[in-house]
Amino acid sequence: MSDLAKQNCMSDEFHYTFKCPKCGCPTFEEILINVTQSTTFARVNCDAEITEPDYQNTSTEGGEINRFQCQSCGFVLQNEHGDTINDTQALRQWLEKNGQKTADESSG
Ligand SMILES: [Zn+2]
Repeated sequence: MSDLAKQNCMSDEFHYTFKCPKCGCPTFEEILINVTQSTTFARVNCDAEITEPDYQNTSTEGGEINRFQCQSCGFVLQNEHGDTINDTQALRQWLEKNGQKTADESSG
C-alpha cells in the first residue's frame, strides 16, 4: 500500500454562489437553535442609565441548524418537497439545483 496512489486524486475545490429567488440578495444566513453562546469581557462600562459589559470575543458551542434563510428578505430555503432545509447535505442538494458552481482556481 502506498500513499502515492492518492496523488491521482486531485483536490477539485469549488464553491457555490447563489441568489435569493425572491429578492436576488446573494447573502444567506444559517440559523442555529439550542446554542450555548459565551462572550468574554474584561470590564464593564457604566453610566447613569446603562451597564454594559465591554464584549471582546464571542464563541458558540453546540446548536443545530434550524434553517437557512436570505439575509435580506428572510426567504427560507426549502427542498422540492417543501421541507425546510436544515442540514448541510440538503443545502448541498439545493445548491446543485439553484446555485452557481465555480471552481476555485489558483491562477497565479
Ligand atoms: Zn431574499
